Amino acid sequence: MSIKKFAIIGDPISHSLSPAMHNYWFKKYNINAQYELLHVKEIDIKNVIEKIKKKELKGINVTLPYKKFIIPFLSKIVNDAKETHSVNTILLDEGDNVIGENTDVFGFQAAYLKLFPNNDKKNMKVLILGAGGVAPSIILALLKSNISHISISNRTYEKSIFLKKKFKEINLIKWENYPEELNKFDILINATSLGLIPGEEPKIKLNDLKKNMIFIDTIYNPQQTKLIKLFKSHNLKTFNGLNMLIYQGQKSFYLWNKINPEIDDGLLGLLESKINK
Ligand code: NDP
Repeated sequence: MSIKKFAIIGDPISHSLSPAMHNYWFKKYNINAQYELLHVKEIDIKNVIEKIKKKELKGINVTLPYKKFIIPFLSKIVNDAKETHSVNTILLDEGDNVIGENTDVFGFQAAYLKLFPNNDKKNMKVLILGAGGVAPSIILALLKSNISHISISNRTYEKSIFLKKKFKEINLIKWENYPEELNKFDILINATSLGLIPGEEPKIKLNDLKKNMIFIDTIYNPQQTKLIKLFKSHNLKTFNGLNMLIYQGQKSFYLWNKINPEIDDGLLGLLESKINK
């Protein structure tokens, strides 16, 4: 039987760990398939979708900056993709329709939110820094987990206003004001790309924070951003973005192959060996 092809598209794309993860699972479950990186410019998106229609590609993941841009090229978007207007997984259905799904929402819920006791969730106050492509998925994941006290602060205020039109329940905080408001929150989520470049980090005054504050950084490379190190040094609980990446990949793999792949030590070791400590 011919080899099934999968890919992740984005620009830039070389940093992605998705090929390593999916190829590990293909090997583990004896699936004759290959997952590769496709560095794609806007103009090439149509060709990629044609390849899916012609079954030259069985499925793709979509990353920065195309999660929204790709929607008009698809037959339809479903479930969490419809609610967030953000697509990270594409597949062909039985009727040969090109379907856009979102597994980032599940990824965020499975990676972090299931760890918090249900009783605590309804009173938890969350601050998300950032209003870019991943922000609507994080907001929907929080709402689905019954966490509804959500505030957003973004450098460009207009982008957070756009998010509020979709999610009316969120509260907006001006970027220059969030450092003074941090003491109100139980969970802080960095959903900006600040921290990818060493030396550029959000401003946090640790002494003012609640003593049980939880910090989630969506960044997974480096494994420990400066902020994670800072929170850890004050004995605060931290998570990086690796689990979110793995769980969104697990759901994509299931959608394409109808197998729920195991997150085992071999996979964790492989991914950790590929990221900067
Ligand atoms: P976008 O490019 O869509 O958004 C970037 C965000 O970062 C915007 O809110 C932007 O603010 C903010 N930002 C960038 N530079 C600065 C700066 N110098 N000062 C203040 N704010 C800044 O990216 P995504 O939303 O797709 O991704 C955001 C982060 O989430 C990335 O770090 C990415 O690695 C991570 N991510 C992790 C995933 C995982 O599986 N772990 C999945 C998806 C994303 P502004 O609007 O003002 O430009």
